[in-house]
Amino acid sequence: MPPAPTRFLDLDGSRFGIPTYPWGWSKHFDPDLGTKAQLRAQGLSIAGLEVAAQLMWASTRSPRRDRVRTANLYRPSLARPVRPMTPAQERALSRAHLARHTCSECGRVWDVYLPTSNGRQCPPPAGCRSFEAPEREFGRSVAVAA
Ligand SMILES: [Zn+2]
Repeated sequence: MPPAPTRFLDLDGSRFGIPTYPWGWSKHFDPDLGTKAQLRAQGLSIAGLEVAAQLMWASTRSPRRDRVRTANLYRPSLARPVRPMTPAQERALSRAHLARHTCSECGRVWDVYLPTSNGRQCPPPAGCRSFEAPEREFGRSVAVAA
């Protein structure tokens, strides 16, 4: 027997605690609802917001025994815009990125993130040693240009 179409519908929250809608149906019952990602796409933050309702749907990807997944819904009308990053935050983020790109042994800066699994050093098999020659070459070309 297929599940009843109203299995995930609970308008007043009497069954699930908060108003619950089947996946894809919340807009039809209450247009002023959105997921975190939907609010973020509108430049809105869920910070300080209470969960207003939830989506509920059956999915094999659910870790739950009943194979049900849920998603929190918030009120876009109450949400505030995402705060832009402050200059200090941007500096801190840049420093963190630079650290992730810089070899902890020789200080070479890479285009890619260096994994912490090898102590954030130049990648094997060559490691730090192999780059002495290209760096000297780089120094020479700078001298020519200047
Ligand atoms: Zn290195």
